[in-house]
Amino acid sequence: MSDQTQTISASTPVTGLAGLNAAQRAAVTHGDGPLLIIAGAGTGKTTVIAHRIAYLITVKRVRPEQVLALTFTEKAAAEMERRVDLLVPYGFTDTWISTFHAFGDRVLRDHALVLGLSPDFRLLTAAEQVIFFQEHLFEFPLHYFRPLGNPMRHVQSLLQLFSRAKDEDVGPEQYASYAEELARRAMASPDDKALAERAEREVEIARTYHQYQELMARNGKLDFGDLMTRTLALLREHPLVLQRLQERFRYILVDEFQDTNYAQFQIVKLLTASHRNVTVVGDDDQSIFKFRGASISNILSFRREFPEAETVVLVENYRSTPSVLGAAYRLIQHNNPDRLEYQEGIDKRLRPCSGDGPAVESMAFQTYQEEADWVAGKVEELVEANACALGSIAILVRRNSDADPLLRALNMKGIPWSFSGARGLYDREEIRLVVSFLRLLADPHDSLSLFHLAGSDIYGMPAADLTLCNAYARRKHRSLYEVLLDLTRRPGAVPELSGVSTEGVAAATAILTDLHRYLEKAVREVTGRILYEFLMEQPGYGKRLLHSNSPRDHQRVGNLALFFGLVQRFGEVAPQDRVAGFVPYLTMLIEAGENPPVAEGEAAEEGVAVLTLHKAKGLEYEAVFLVGLVEKRFPSIDRREAIPLPDELIKETLPSGDFHLQEERRLFYVGMTRAKRYLFLTRARDYGTKREWKRSRFLVEALALPKEEEERPWRGTPEAAIGRYAPPLHTANDLAVRADTPLSLSHYKIDDYLTCPLKYKYVHILRVPVLRDHTVIYGAALHRAVQAYNTHRIAGQTMSLEDLIDTFEAHWVNEGFISREHEERRLQEGRDALTRFHAVAGIRPPPTSVEKRFSFQLDDDIVTGFLDRVDEREGETVIIDYKSSSVRDHKAADKGARESQQLALYALAYWKSVGRLPDRVELHFLTSGGVIVGHAVKKEKELDQAIDRIREAAIGIRGGLFQAKPSQWVCDFCAFRTICPATVWIGERQG
Ligand code: ATP
Ligand code: MG
Repeated sequence: MSDQTQTISASTPVTGLAGLNAAQRAAVTHGDGPLLIIAGAGTGKTTVIAHRIAYLITVKRVRPEQVLALTFTEKAAAEMERRVDLLVPYGFTDTWISTFHAFGDRVLRDHALVLGLSPDFRLLTAAEQVIFFQEHLFEFPLHYFRPLGNPMRHVQSLLQLFSRAKDEDVGPEQYASYAEELARRAMASPDDKALAERAEREVEIARTYHQYQELMARNGKLDFGDLMTRTLALLREHPLVLQRLQERFRYILVDEFQDTNYAQFQIVKLLTASHRNVTVVGDDDQSIFKFRGASISNILSFRREFPEAETVVLVENYRSTPSVLGAAYRLIQHNNPDRLEYQEGIDKRLRPCSGDGPAVESMAFQTYQEEADWVAGKVEELVEANACALGSIAILVRRNSDADPLLRALNMKGIPWSFSGARGLYDREEIRLVVSFLRLLADPHDSLSLFHLAGSDIYGMPAADLTLCNAYARRKHRSLYEVLLDLTRRPGAVPELSGVSTEGVAAATAILTDLHRYLEKAVREVTGRILYEFLMEQPGYGKRLLHSNSPRDHQRVGNLALFFGLVQRFGEVAPQDRVAGFVPYLTMLIEAGENPPVAEGEAAEEGVAVLTLHKAKGLEYEAVFLVGLVEKRFPSIDRREAIPLPDELIKETLPSGDFHLQEERRLFYVGMTRAKRYLFLTRARDYGTKREWKRSRFLVEALALPKEEEERPWRGTPEAAIGRYAPPLHTANDLAVRADTPLSLSHYKIDDYLTCPLKYKYVHILRVPVLRDHTVIYGAALHRAVQAYNTHRIAGQTMSLEDLIDTFEAHWVNEGFISREHEERRLQEGRDALTRFHAVAGIRPPPTSVEKRFSFQLDDDIVTGFLDRVDEREGETVIIDYKSSSVRDHKAADKGARESQQLALYALAYWKSVGRLPDRVELHFLTSGGVIVGHAVKKEKELDQAIDRIREAAIGIRGGLFQAKPSQWVCDFCAFRTICPATVWIGERQG
């Protein structure tokens, strides 16, 4: 290569240009000015960026530090660095190759003083943002979005909204003027109630947004969105800084441009405004991170902003076989007309460079486990046939939580894997154990943690003994700690505990001795030290792990090390690093959805890559499996933003079609086009719920299948089928109920079992004592008051409002509230609700009965419960249940009554006792705005459903089947989520 060469012709061999096709060369050697590269998957877009960087540095003699390359993920940035490294013969360490966020972070730290920021501002993770919000919860001007029954309910949604607003470059001022305008319009048309409500909410949001920014700034904190908006502000408000940065970065290149957001594009525009040397590469069909599916918005606005831009289209695909590309192309056509190819007449049909390959294979199975088994088997087959190396195979899942059965199936065959979605540090048993230990030090009466630790490998207290102690603790309203104290200090003194084995007493003694010793130390020493000593002093634990040769144990040690890192981070910021302070901090992190990745396993062997489709962007594999291809999983159900950013504030061009479906289709397209040679599309009929799952419409589109007929699902081998009936993980058959003893069931027991059998086991069999939630306390106190009022009425008396409120307050317990302020407000809410109740309660004739117990037999079991209130008048019977939760309006209340399983069971109970259905069932919601009543009539069909539910629960409980049924929705509200091995944490549903 000639050092002086400035002009390139096709005949001049230049580093890195060999092997590129003409269009790629044109792009790489493009001179100054804007360049737009639009091209489908696998056409060498990323390759072109890497080559162009090398070309600029080696041929155009651009100094490395004058080049800025922006990518979408850290992984992509690292990969880009690696490629450039290979192309440039000498170091180029001064070239900035980074993500947008990392770029913003660096620029802001360099110019912090100009902005009045501290140069070591703290960037909050999503979880830390939630904690920050919680710490300042009552400093926000919130009302509608802070219901006292669940004051944190909208926090995540609000934060998400702010983040969206930042993506769109909408600051608090702009939000405020929008909200004010809305309020003005509402004032002008006083009859428009809906508008008034909308305006009120938007004003509340605008003020909260403003306050959030204020508080964050005052505390020296930034969030991810701020990295972009503050950088923009810097460039806009400080022309000198802008000029310096423009002079510094003479060439800017952006990969995956289709997914940059509005604010990021503004940054690129400002930085290149003086020289316009900007190269962007993108594929609208692979846009999978954009706000409301604005997939072509960026490329269109790039053309608008840089009308002189040269456009290069790449069509030769070097990655995949014709069959893969054909299927992918057929699929993506279904997004027309919201595609560039369609709108701009750009031909994006990819021309394969490779010869024929195997056909795309589609398989159907009965269950997900069979599907997973097949995938694992196929992986093995490919490797054994030398078709591909293990590391060049990928299994792509829609959500992280879909990976479990796959990983299990791979484990069964001894196939190594790496799962990039493995967050889950807090879900690891070794971490749960140390967390339980720390929680116990912060509060010895935390029975849940004591239960967990006592039963663990470390102390090994027998389950039967623990159950005995738990049950006794519950009955006596004492903590497990107090019960174990009794057990060990006064053996034999408590007859109920006489059944505890000597082994059990010894374990209890060991744990209490340790606990007392560490409690004393914890006052004086830092968290990390306490933790370390605890681990090392357990002969069977820490030391054994350290000296073990098993890779699993190594990973355990790795995880513990990661946890120590977390403890250290706390130590750096906490005013005083003690266990008592660390535990609430950790709890808040966990509640806010933080769950860092686990330690990487031993990378001795390369393994199959298991990852989400979102993470697979830009990557390629010899063989790709797309699994779980059924409707409602892929395409997934549209989860709209809980609090949407108003359309008026959106600056992007939005698509005309169903944007969710289109985005899912693009995701599918991304998945398919990762495959070089083998592509397998699999699905099952049964994903663990009763319904039958239908094949994904994307399968039909990609493979041009006939719409109507479904092929017969492939059946698993008999061995696999039998294997599925092996005892599940959490079955303890000794807990099964003997066939000849009747079960005693109630609405709550049935509901708990059907919600999650493992939860049932914790609550009703192991009887693990838990702290009560504040909603339970509120509800119970309110119920007691209303019950007292109704009882008086039956006796012909009327309770005064004062007495009513006194009763309420007498049953109040100060437990589980978020803060003192929260408790005060909640008390007041209860008083208000009762005042409204008192004002109308006298109008209705007195009840016939209050807290009426019922009991009936079904098969061999007994179902019991209490009816809050029954009214019988003029031959009409109404069953009433009081609710302390709030409800929007009568319509919602009616819906609640219609769908209430509890009321169906009560109707069944009534039918069992008098042989006919009640005329009506009602839910009375006691809200501070008044009593809202929902009505429904229960039909026989619903009684049958209630019977089915009872039977389903009874069969499971009798059989000792207590396998967890984790889901986001269930786990979020479960008191056992900190110790349960199956918990699904917030955020896991995202990619
Ligand atoms: P995606 O749309 O998935 O991001 P891309 O357009 O960025 O893909 P690359 O990842 O750059 O495509 O390239 C796809 C594959 O094709 C890579 O394996 C790359 O090495 C190869 N490739 C690119 N250009 C050529 C070429 N001219 N000759 C041979 N192989 C090439
Ligand atoms: Mg790429």
